[in-house]
Amino acid sequence: MTRIDGHTYLIGLMAYPIRHSMSPTMHNTAFEALNLNFVYLAFDVPTEKLKNGVAAIRTLDMRGSNVSMPNKQAIIPYLDKLDISAELNQAVNTVVNDNGVLTGYTTDGVGFVTDLKKKGHEVAGKKMVLIGAGGVGTPIATQSALDSLSEIRIFNRHDGRFDHAKETVDIINEKTNCQASLTDLADQAALKEALAWADIFCDATGVGMKPLEDQSLVEDPTWFKKDLVVYDTVYAPRETKLMTIAKNAGVDHVYNGLGMMIEQGAAAFKLWTGQDMPIDLVQAAIE
Ligand code: NAD
Repeated sequence: MTRIDGHTYLIGLMAYPIRHSMSPTMHNTAFEALNLNFVYLAFDVPTEKLKNGVAAIRTLDMRGSNVSMPNKQAIIPYLDKLDISAELNQAVNTVVNDNGVLTGYTTDGVGFVTDLKKKGHEVAGKKMVLIGAGGVGTPIATQSALDSLSEIRIFNRHDGRFDHAKETVDIINEKTNCQASLTDLADQAALKEALAWADIFCDATGVGMKPLEDQSLVEDPTWFKKDLVVYDTVYAPRETKLMTIAKNAGVDHVYNGLGMMIEQGAAAFKLWTGQDMPIDLVQAAIE
């Protein structure tokens, strides 16, 4: 912490509750390793205080901030511009302050695509099945579409997120070259057929994480073909029940969401500093 002086740039994380977040450890580890004069701090900011929180970014000339629940949509009216990643999601997880102009980005989708790419799987030209179109599933869908995914079949249960998923499908069909569709998750025959058709399968529901750690949205191992790329956005536990079933079915490429979580941070880090986050060091710091 000796590097803090009168020139240090502040980056925030505004959400509520947020004290459990790994982001301060990730970013401060990276600033220290690269000898960058930045510091990253988490602030409990409920939505009713968000307007003042954004005003603080301007007043204190902070370099930017991450934003998480419940502020990802609520912050939009207080910003000056949205990047296409945030515009397609109507949600923001990263704010960059360029000389008083605040731009909102969503880096979760970039995190997913970059993690897959580093693992040897491009989304361009591929077909994807995605279960769940919430705060994490939506940017996965839109960013993959922006990065030339050819087709996506989204499955969502008929809950409060279904209509939002419909909007996401419409946005992808209107604004990208990817073909998108939405199916009720209750249509299990359609899910089985889609898994046989897909190159990539992503579960972005959180099923498999506590308190649902003994559940999987695909129980039958015969639904997984061996060359399917299986991605669960959950990273605690590191191996979900879905992942175990896929591995036991002989699927070679089965991943949890840890890489995505780190890469979404790395994308924000690059926006603020222009530098590449030292991924291995950061991963070691949060393991
Ligand atoms: P969310 O509540 O916004 O959306 C959840 C989605 O899953 C919705 O579409 C909902 O309909 C669906 N869903 C929820 N429970 C379900 C169930 N039992 N059966 C079928 N569908 C169900 O949540 P979110 O913010 O999108 O987070 C989803 C999960 O992603 C989290 O639980 C967490 O495990 C994981 N996550 C990963 C990262 C990462 O970077 N890897 C970051 C944040 C969250």
